[in-house]
Amino acid sequence: MEFAEFAGCASEIEEMSADTEIVEAVTDLLVAADDDLEALARFVQGRVFPAWDSTTLDIGPNYCYEAIARAAGRNVAADDVEAKLAELGDVGEVAASYDFGGQQGLGAFGDGSEDGLTVAEVYDELAALAAVEGSGSQDTKIDILFGLFNRTGSAEARYLARLVLSEMRIGVGEGTVRDAVAAGFDVPVEEVERALQVSNDYGRVARVAREDGTEGLAALDLSVGRPVQAMLAQAGTVSDALDDWEEAAVDWKYDGARVQLHYDPDGLDLPGDRDAPAGSPNVRVFSRNMEDVTDPLPEIVEYAEATLDEPAILDGEVVAMDGGEPLPFQEVLRRFRRKHDVARAREEVAVELRAFDCLHAGGEDLLEVPLTERHDCLRDLLGDDVSELVVSDDPDDIADVEADALDSGHEGIMLKNPESTYSPGRRGKNWLKRKPDVETLDLVVTGAEWGEGRRASFLGTFLLSAWTDSGFETIGKVATGITDEELAELTELLEPHVAAQDGQEVDLSPEVVFEVGYEEIQESPTYSSGYALRFPRFLGVREDKDPEDADSLDRVERLVDQQ
Ligand code: AMP
Repeated sequence: MEFAEFAGCASEIEEMSADTEIVEAVTDLLVAADDDLEALARFVQGRVFPAWDSTTLDIGPNYCYEAIARAAGRNVAADDVEAKLAELGDVGEVAASYDFGGQQGLGAFGDGSEDGLTVAEVYDELAALAAVEGSGSQDTKIDILFGLFNRTGSAEARYLARLVLSEMRIGVGEGTVRDAVAAGFDVPVEEVERALQVSNDYGRVARVAREDGTEGLAALDLSVGRPVQAMLAQAGTVSDALDDWEEAAVDWKYDGARVQLHYDPDGLDLPGDRDAPAGSPNVRVFSRNMEDVTDPLPEIVEYAEATLDEPAILDGEVVAMDGGEPLPFQEVLRRFRRKHDVARAREEVAVELRAFDCLHAGGEDLLEVPLTERHDCLRDLLGDDVSELVVSDDPDDIADVEADALDSGHEGIMLKNPESTYSPGRRGKNWLKRKPDVETLDLVVTGAEWGEGRRASFLGTFLLSAWTDSGFETIGKVATGITDEELAELTELLEPHVAAQDGQEVDLSPEVVFEVGYEEIQESPTYSSGYALRFPRFLGVREDKDPEDADSLDRVERLVDQQ
């Protein structure tokens, strides 16, 4: 297809507002494609390379302005292009406003040697541009771009400039291309969706749909060496998790940077005919946006080489550690960006992998396998480096994991549906990052219960109250978030205030104030205040507060109103 035809189509789409109309236009475009189908399926989204491919054009806007200026003629400088950009606000408009004479050049030599630019040529030239390296590379890149702009007419220039700067902005998103592939090649949209998830490559999926139909799409699977999009989480509460699932799988939420690690002991499947990368030919590490971050992270490569012995794709977080304590995630990002002196950077800040999921192991794709089984595979691969997955319906167990995570200096916890499959790129309800408590309450301890078994000599389960003008009203009991050591301290602190005892239960005179976290305040007949805290957790003793300084029932009511 001529690039002019693509540009004409892009320009029509840009004027459309109805999604259905846009899908139809993209469908027509894909159906009209020839060998250039893969490139077209990407260009229409403003992408040059497949999503899994971390190749970039690596050309800053200034170089693009330079190429435009050169193509525009002797009297135009890059500064003029920039000034025009400030006025028009879109590099496409700017490029379109110059007369590059591309269309006049059409057939100008009469021997067919100056045919219009094709989509395939644009792709080949941009791929060549991306491959240029070394000193003087920016000049060579500008030359290539200049050569392209020089052959464009106004509409082509508009979309070429936008493509080069990844700013297509014609309203075509991933869903549009998915629907267009399904409609254009008569394959089920779910099959296209699945194929996109595993291949992460719109061009390839379009071609396979056209050439091999539904069966071909179904045969696509993960390739070790090519990243897929990471599964994402929503914010949620323990109540959300336990209301929706029978049990929740609880995992520490590490404060680092997301990675996908690909390993194959026999060498990885690398893009096209590209050379094997420096460093290990068996390991690649990709960031959340699928950038290749292998070279800056040699210790992760060494870890994979030393630990794994079969092909695997792992999902996890890279954390920076200092004497067992995690460092802020900015330190990890600094390591990701480090290109030079990696050995020195490594000495300054060491990073480690905390793997939490497994997408492929020993030749098997695991996306459709439930989380608990994927986690078993992960433990088979990495052994005790992966902690056991806590699966429970008991808020106390969940709170214990959270307390451990926080004690170890990590961010908190993730709650996951134990039955859930791995959905690349999805921010669904199957992974929840537990929302930190928005508010805490300072409440007076007015009762407690003696523990049982190992904890028989300690007071546990503390009754909490808020004050009113006529005295204290109970609002909940807290038993979670307290370590054995703290139980001993709290018993020592509260025992002198025992006013009455009935079996295991004691009344306490109102002297001690606890700071308590909770997820929600509900109306409830259980306590005298008429309210109950959902999932209350002990955060600490407010030694600085007397009972009259604690929170009143009025404040509780105001918080309920705000909920
Ligand atoms: P957020 O970045 O706040 O949206 O939280 C989601 C992110 O938490 C994920 O993308 C991961 O990078 C990170 N994370 C840390 N620990 C885990 C874990 N155990 N499971 C899933 N994601 C995790």
